[in-house]
Amino acid sequence: MEKKSCNCAGLHPQSMCPAFGGLRVLTRIDGVQVCMAADQGCLYGLTFVSHFYAARKSIVSTELMNVQISGGSMIDDLRRTIGEIAKDPSVRFIPVVSTCVAETAGIAEELLPRKVGNADVLLVRLPAFQIRTHPEAKDVAVATLLKRFGAFEAEKKPKSVVVLGEIFPVDAMAIGSVLQKIGVESVIILPGTALEDYIEAGQAEACAVLHPFYERTVSLLEGKGMKIVKGNPIGANGTAQWIRRIGEAMGLDQAAVEAVAAEESGKAKEMMARFSTMHGKVIVAGYEGNELPVVRLLLEAGLDVPYASTSIAETPLGEEDHKVLSMLGTEIRYRKYLEEDMDAVERYAPDLVIGTTSLDSFAKERGIPAIYYTNNISARPLFFAAGAATVLGMISGLLARKDAFRKMKEYFED
Ligand code: SF4
Repeated sequence: MEKKSCNCAGLHPQSMCPAFGGLRVLTRIDGVQVCMAADQGCLYGLTFVSHFYAARKSIVSTELMNVQISGGSMIDDLRRTIGEIAKDPSVRFIPVVSTCVAETAGIAEELLPRKVGNADVLLVRLPAFQIRTHPEAKDVAVATLLKRFGAFEAEKKPKSVVVLGEIFPVDAMAIGSVLQKIGVESVIILPGTALEDYIEAGQAEACAVLHPFYERTVSLLEGKGMKIVKGNPIGANGTAQWIRRIGEAMGLDQAAVEAVAAEESGKAKEMMARFSTMHGKVIVAGYEGNELPVVRLLLEAGLDVPYASTSIAETPLGEEDHKVLSMLGTEIRYRKYLEEDMDAVERYAPDLVIGTTSLDSFAKERGIPAIYYTNNISARPLFFAAGAATVLGMISGLLARKDAFRKMKEYFED
């Protein structure tokens, strides 16, 4: 593709501050109080988004202006702030989050306490110049937590699995019930809300990684001898394959696994058949890092998806989806720019865009229906038959009403 020239290329907001992904993981843990080592601009923005899109908790920070940074009192100030936070007996965990300010990104962990009073203290480094997107910051946060707290030296719990990926609560329940049916005895879903989950995760036999950006966490777990299961139960084919892979990795009863795989994929297939009359061209362009499995579902349901993009880089964990999508003719962009997405809207003239807010405005201005990926896809079930029903049901409704946008555009132009 010939890239469009743009005077401010690279300056358009492509994604939110990456540190937000890490804060979303950390602030949701019970008994946590984040202490941030960042400048006041970062603190203002991040405490705002954490309130609204994470756990409705404020972030505490030491005053960090030029005078503290250049005056050399930063570490003492941080230690004092941690001490103040730890006075609250309900605080069990104080992650110290360092961000882009060069001096805070380079804080030496040894200069911070490991425990103060009742609370464990852990440095989590989330500088945007190293971690490009918020999904990748989730991976960094989870890996840092597991490295410190995971009980890897303890005896393994038989038939136990860690499911890795932030998912809708109904999906977590559905995964638990399907895994129980095939003989799994313990399921821990990470990122979780209990510090104990991170401790116990170290004792699991296998890790089912649902999203392709958890590279650091997977490499840590693999290094500790845990079996890794790739893929996710999205669509009929993916569901059967995922259940079989878990059964194989954990040495479960083959007949029971096969029966559940056939039953669940059959239900998903049946559900997808209800949408067999649905047709249309859809562009998927999010920044959550889990877009490609969603595209796989749409393609399996018979939709045309000529273009898909994501904020993350291409990773070995996403290799299978990349191959399937490429084989079925979807043009894929990693580390995408808004300009590339806009160009795709013009080239492919889709019937529906599932995109970022900026791209959606661009599509709507052209009379094309557009919805926000994060609010509409990440906020509903995706897995098994129930997931297929909710996602395809929503898309089918939007495609059926696609002319409304064109009429609205014509009305206002007239
Ligand atoms: S300077 Fe870095 S940490 Fe601060 S808001 Fe910007 S990207 Fe986020």
